Amino acid sequence: MKPITARIIPILAHARQPNAARPHRFMPVSQQRSLAGFYPAWIKWLAWGAFAWAFAGWLNETWFYGYASPIWLNRYTEYALILIFGLWRIRAEKNPYTRKRLIWLVANVTVLWWLIPWLYPFIEPYVGYIAGLPAFPSLHTPGTLTFFLVLIAVFLFGRRVICGWNCPCVAIREVVGFPYRHADHVPRGDGAWRWRHLKWLWFALYLGAMWAVTRPANNTTSAYLGFFGLMIGLPYFISFLLAPWVGNRSYCRFLCPYGATFGLLNRVGLFRIDYQAESCIECGLCIKVCVMNIPVWEMGKQNHGQVDSTECMGCGRCVTECPTKSLAFHDARNLLLPSLHQDRDHLRQASDWRRPLVALKGVAYVTLLVGLLGAAAYTYSQVGTLAELPARMGALCGLPVLSW
Ligand code: SF4
Ligand code: SF4
Ligand code: SF4
Repeated sequence: MKPITARIIPILAHARQPNAARPHRFMPVSQQRSLAGFYPAWIKWLAWGAFAWAFAGWLNETWFYGYASPIWLNRYTEYALILIFGLWRIRAEKNPYTRKRLIWLVANVTVLWWLIPWLYPFIEPYVGYIAGLPAFPSLHTPGTLTFFLVLIAVFLFGRRVICGWNCPCVAIREVVGFPYRHADHVPRGDGAWRWRHLKWLWFALYLGAMWAVTRPANNTTSAYLGFFGLMIGLPYFISFLLAPWVGNRSYCRFLCPYGATFGLLNRVGLFRIDYQAESCIECGLCIKVCVMNIPVWEMGKQNHGQVDSTECMGCGRCVTECPTKSLAFHDARNLLLPSLHQDRDHLRQASDWRRPLVALKGVAYVTLLVGLLGAAAYTYSQVGTLAELPARMGALCGLPVLSW
């Protein structure tokens, strides 16, 4: 058995080989596309500095308490950075489907993950005991209402409902971490592909956390949940700082227990990518654009026309870039509409804002987010947090006040 360093170094070296022999041509920062570009040092340092700043915000709020958690140095600092870099990234993105996904992603993180929990902190209905009260939306916290809704959505539409369109972790990696998508930074190939199994270790820890939240609070469960939080938070932020060596999506690829959970539902649920061997010219573009390093067309060929992977986060880059339209998304909608074929043309057309239906859907979604924000503000001004609601209702009805 080789020592672990002897296994890692060739993987990292492999990532550098293909481009080492030829000079790099820098890509303008106003242009970003599915095939990762190579960017000058200043843009990489800017991205790394933003990553470090997000880490500093989390450290300040979690451990150091050096400042009274202002927005520029608390856990929401990360989301403010996502908004700033996201606007730039959306403007620069050339793939229409990815641009649409980024708009959704940045809007979701800004409203659902930043503004509502920060300005109007609610407590969600949940089952079991949770050491720290969750704030909407707590889709990673087992037992909360959001968690169960998300599990159902992932079963129906795949991991992309979270890992593609609604996770701050992927958002910061997509918008701040884009200079580190290039092969010079991303471990690729068979060796790196095998390291995906590492995340099952974190998944086992997550199962322990799921068990702990259903137990009554005691020293053991509280200590375990604290340990689990550390095992999630530290690797999450440290992977930011290691982006120049392990790429922008290393946490999602190798460590994330939530991604593993959603990935299992990807496998047993209704989502997959259909592959047509007859039209495929084996150009390999689908593999090159995949940030999760999935051997897309090879898996489709071996698996009788189905790319059904726990790793696929449904970004759609492979489907929208396939020159022969040999790939297509498949999910719950195909049960209702068997003729629906979500291939390159379909996804690109569904991202064209000049089409009335696409524009209408965009307006409806913006209205929904603004409505949620307004409803949160109104409810908060009237009854405070949901934790206060039972007490207030009890007082109004002359009933004994409930303790939450
Ligand atoms: S794998 Fe984990 S960190 Fe990555 S997008 Fe999915 S839930 Fe977020
Ligand atoms: S991009 Fe399309 S044509 Fe090229 S290898 Fe992948 S599936 Fe085949
Ligand atoms: S297989 Fe395709 S949709 Fe899935 S992560 Fe890779 S590029 Fe994205």
